[in-house]
Amino acid sequence: MTVRPLPFRPPPSHDELLSSWIGRLAKANHCSAEELCGYLGLGQGRVPERINDLGQVDWVRLCSAVQRTRHEIAAMTLPDATHHAVRYVSLHCFQHCPGCAEQTPGLTLRHWRFAWSMTCETCGQALVAKYPVKGISGRLRARAVRGSEALRAAVANNDHRRLRRIDLTLHLMTVLGTGHLGSLTSKNEHERLLALAAVNVGTTHPLLGAAIILRGNDGAAQELRRVFPQHRRVIERIRAMTQDLDRRLPELCEIAHPTGHETYRSCRSNASESALQAARQAISELGHDANRHALLMRADTIWRRPDGDKS
Ligand SMILES: [Zn+2]
Repeated sequence: MTVRPLPFRPPPSHDELLSSWIGRLAKANHCSAEELCGYLGLGQGRVPERINDLGQVDWVRLCSAVQRTRHEIAAMTLPDATHHAVRYVSLHCFQHCPGCAEQTPGLTLRHWRFAWSMTCETCGQALVAKYPVKGISGRLRARAVRGSEALRAAVANNDHRRLRRIDLTLHLMTVLGTGHLGSLTSKNEHERLLALAAVNVGTTHPLLGAAIILRGNDGAAQELRRVFPQHRRVIERIRAMTQDLDRRLPELCEIAHPTGHETYRSCRSNASESALQAARQAISELGHDANRHALLMRADTIWRRPDGDKS
């Protein structure tokens, strides 16, 4: 069935999401998005934006009303990611580009909905989270960017091994209470960056990352064994690595105590304080412009000296 073309048809922006364009078409034609969906034969309920939302669509009617081809309309939808364990595409706006949104009110671009998108592909500005957080360190941000690149590559190459590793990392975060399975597209900026940073550690040094997290935290290791009985061998390997770390870095745990959160925290803060001090001294000795590797080597040497011999 063919219908008359809509009287007003603002063209879609480059990479505009279908629901965003339908919203703008409705506004231009002085009706609600729901009324327009009825006219276009898209049914009731949520305005379609995923490719699987268009399964029952009368394409002849839709194409003639908006004067676009089936291919053009399908290209404006989000992929069907339901078969992926890693939730890399969001059905909600968790970030946007202030520049593009100001220029075209009501605009949402497709790539803003992907977990790995950090900058607007149209104008190059940094995307802004729904709930931005002040004071996020440059280091966390840089690590999150590397994590986002790893995630993008894993999905683009359909790299099952890497995707499984990312999935495990998110499960680990969920068990430890530092995130959840939807954190990669969280509206909270800090939560999302933490998850992306964990993807970076999880894909580059998966076991070491887990070992560092689990140091002095036996409760979490037990919880992991309970939740992932099928990964018992890997968890035991991680536990062995944490014990090895404790043996190699005994100075980190001078406050010998049965393991527990308090001990864990004080160990960690003492360690990071002395490491920071060592780094400062290395910089003062070798200068800010020194080779990064040389600085690290020097800081490591200072850090390993017994206490009271830091000069
Ligand atoms: Zn933009």
